Amino acid sequence: MRILVTGAAGFLGSHLCDRLLAEGHEVVGMDNFVTGKPENLAHLGTNERFLFIKHDVSNYISVPGKLDAVMHFASPASPNPNSPIGYPNLPIQTMKAGALGTHNTLGVALANNARFMLASTSEIYGDPLEHPQKESYWGHVDPIGERSVYDEAKRFAEALTMAYHRFHKVNTCIVRIFNTYGPRMHVDDGRAVANFIQQALRGEQLTIYGDGQQTRSFCYVDDLIDGIYRLLVSDIHEPVNIGNPDEITIEQFAKEIDALVGKEAGLVYEKKQFLPGDPLRRQPDITRAREWLQWGPTISLRDGLSKTIQYFRQELGQV
Ligand code: NAD
Ligand code: UDP
Repeated sequence: MRILVTGAAGFLGSHLCDRLLAEGHEVVGMDNFVTGKPENLAHLGTNERFLFIKHDVSNYISVPGKLDAVMHFASPASPNPNSPIGYPNLPIQTMKAGALGTHNTLGVALANNARFMLASTSEIYGDPLEHPQKESYWGHVDPIGERSVYDEAKRFAEALTMAYHRFHKVNTCIVRIFNTYGPRMHVDDGRAVANFIQQALRGEQLTIYGDGQQTRSFCYVDDLIDGIYRLLVSDIHEPVNIGNPDEITIEQFAKEIDALVGKEAGLVYEKKQFLPGDPLRRQPDITRAREWLQWGPTISLRDGLSKTIQYFRQELGQV
């Protein structure tokens, strides 16, 4: 296949390009580097099956040649209000990438009669009242809160994707991605994985927001990309959760990282919440992925964290 990947210079987009190329496909990567970086794609510079186009997906998209699939991953993704790449500081770009970017990429898929995949998110469930979250859950989302620029853009994107599927018969699919970590993730985006690993490597106390009893379920990037690839080559149109169902409290997660790094600086509890609306519990129900895609995560938290810590050591110049 010849596949357009938007957000190609980002954390997930760059791993996705690697996997698609490894499967023998041709890839057209597109990105405007608002939160991604060219270094994530530097290793593909000489690959004849890879073409890069610098472009903002919120503007009309033109790709030379026929495409068989379009995968729309371009969007800021970090909720950190203190980071320049956090979506609270890119609110209009975030809404445009989810709304106009999804409209433009769906248009490309329609024109090419191509398979379309939307990278959606567990955030469409908001601060969930149902647990674990099944795809049938409609969510509990604040439409005007600080997270809404991301959450509502993705909800709009899902609705638009289904409209193109129902009205234009585009061969669409929607992946709802849960927290993912691994090499090439942003080291300074202020999210839990990045903060905890950096703090542990520097021998500093790990900052727990609140009492640390809020939960997340962290998926290693290779597992996630495998689920995404299986969904791409399937004929499924319904949304599918891809993530690791092993739920862990943020406190326990921090302790695991502290122990793995080995400097054992301990934890410090901070009163401030990360961002209002910080979900208390998040865990995917992956029954659909297991039954429809024969997919489930295979990489343990310990192994995934060890590889990620190694990447952070390199980025921080500790090797
Ligand atoms: P990322 O910031 O590393 O990658 C996003 C990429 O999109 C960046 O390279 C950025 O420059 C690019 N981009 C943003 N707006 C653009 C625009 N208007 N035009 C062109 N390029 C643009 O983030 P990520 O973690 O790799 O996330 C990728 C996708 O996966 C996003 O759509 C995100 O919502 C989704 N997602 C990620 C996670 C996660 O845990 N990482 C969880 C749920 C959903
Ligand atoms: N968190 C924390 N300390 C940090 C960073 C984050 O306790 O230094 C918490 C945050 O409040 C949230 C959880 O960790 O409850 C996961 O946050 P993350 O940054 O990974 O983003 P989210 O899962 O909310 O998208």
